[in-house]
Amino acid sequence: MRALSLEKNLQYQANHPDPRPGEGECLVRVRMAGICSTDLQLVLGYMQFRGILGHEFVGVVESGSANWLGKRVVCEINCVCRHCDMCLSGLANHCRKRTVLGIAGRDGCFADLVCVPEANLHEVPDVLTDEQAVFVEPVAAAYQTLSQYPFVAKTKATVVGSGRLGLLVTQVLAETGCKLTVVGRNAAKLLLAEKRGVQSVHVDDLICRADHDVVVDCTGSPEGFDLATRLVRPRGSIVLKSTFAGERGVNLAAVVVNEISVLGSRCGSFSDAIHALVREAVEVRPMITQTVPFDQAMDAMTAASQPKHLKILLDMRK
Ligand SMILES: [Zn+2]
Ligand SMILES: [Zn+2]
Repeated sequence: MRALSLEKNLQYQANHPDPRPGEGECLVRVRMAGICSTDLQLVLGYMQFRGILGHEFVGVVESGSANWLGKRVVCEINCVCRHCDMCLSGLANHCRKRTVLGIAGRDGCFADLVCVPEANLHEVPDVLTDEQAVFVEPVAAAYQTLSQYPFVAKTKATVVGSGRLGLLVTQVLAETGCKLTVVGRNAAKLLLAEKRGVQSVHVDDLICRADHDVVVDCTGSPEGFDLATRLVRPRGSIVLKSTFAGERGVNLAAVVVNEISVLGSRCGSFSDAIHALVREAVEVRPMITQTVPFDQAMDAMTAASQPKHLKILLDMRK
């Protein structure tokens, strides 16, 4: 099969051996996959991952349990043991022994075929296109923000970062009716938020008054976190949505002095995400800036790091 694999370097392999499903796993033929900032970070050395990249995809089950054969599916990325203290206390996404699709200890979906635990699958409703379904994983991550902070109409909230994840978080928060602003540096991307009825501010025009109840940092950069500490009010909260392997330190004094709560936030509910896409509470199609045949995946990875791009999809159907 074809695969995009991170060895010493990133390699497109036309003849990678096909994977064999283990116990409780299905073999899925990938239809489309999305490139995410985490993939770009992994290439730069994050998690010291080796293997096939990719964790956002839609595919069709080719072998495994009869219940799933032929179904179009998306897949939760944390593959868990179900026996450790975290799993038994209902926090399976924090499983001590987990592997994570294309991120830690397990090959991902930038390939024609991928093996995944049957328990991780969700069927995709017919009304969603492949292009929409690819977004279920990052939309679920955006929904996790809602489960961690009680957004209500009077909540003054800002999303810092108008990239891939920032625009999804923005749409999810907009549905709560909170007083929402998105901050970014790319006018075209901010316009997408404006089109969804969310006020946007260019970072250069921003005045930090330390008066926001909650700031969601989706920048993946220490600068974004610094900005969040200047926007949030004393005793307010910062939700950190993106990882950065910080080679430069962040100033934590503001967190102490202003008694800010910092909430790390990672994966969320696939069912919430699927429902949001079905009822178009989250509109993802304008975020697709390129769809690339899979054999051009190397070029697509290069392009994905350019600021002009939002989501680039890899198309395995051709
Ligand atoms: Zn991702
Ligand atoms: Zn576990």
